[in-house]
Amino acid sequence: MLDGHKSSPQSSRQSDGHHSRPSSFGEGLAPALALNADFRPLSYFPLSLWSWQDTVKAVFLDRVTIISEYDSYIHSPSISMRLPSVIALKDYVQQSPNPAFTRFNVFLRDKFCCQYCSREFQAQDLTFDHVIPRSRGGRTTWENVVAACSRCNLLKSNKMPKECGMIPRITPQQPNTWQLQENGRRFPPNHLHHSWRDYLYWDSELEHDASPDFKMSGDIILT
Ligand SMILES: [Zn+2]
Repeated sequence: MLDGHKSSPQSSRQSDGHHSRPSSFGEGLAPALALNADFRPLSYFPLSLWSWQDTVKAVFLDRVTIISEYDSYIHSPSISMRLPSVIALKDYVQQSPNPAFTRFNVFLRDKFCCQYCSREFQAQDLTFDHVIPRSRGGRTTWENVVAACSRCNLLKSNKMPKECGMIPRITPQQPNTWQLQENGRRFPPNHLHHSWRDYLYWDSELEHDASPDFKMSGDIILT
């Protein structure tokens, strides 16, 4: 019954992630918030949400503990169970201290702010800029790449920072995973199920509760 899903929970927490600023998590039906064995989210941004298929599979493989459940059930010919809304890994997964060098992680390190004009942008409106231009021997590394808006990127072009007076507001460095997680906490998704909130520490969520609950649309019937 549950063997038909190709992706494992391990891989889904990567592939389920959003690669732009959060808009809505409503498109994925009944995802579960996935916590590490220390009850902290595996990832803040993108928030570690597992599809209900991967979640149920992990439950049956005895890899996770169910912390909280939705009101909805999953029914199959052989089982009936409430859908988990929060799960925690039984075995602690050590996070790599060095995050991957990707465009997205550069933007996250720079908090989605253009490092020249300091304005905040959506991920799709940001580019990355080589502080020392590639044409001048600059390399594509954490220390030489920053988030920049298109306008600033165009202005800077292939000039050295001192030639054009455009110096990154924060000297770019390689971040560690903890720093990226901290930055990710600044970007909560729009829709949070109430059962997730105890495990998330977004200041905005603690201060006001304007976002509607994640909506479940009835039970899931497996045939
Ligand atoms: Zn700019």
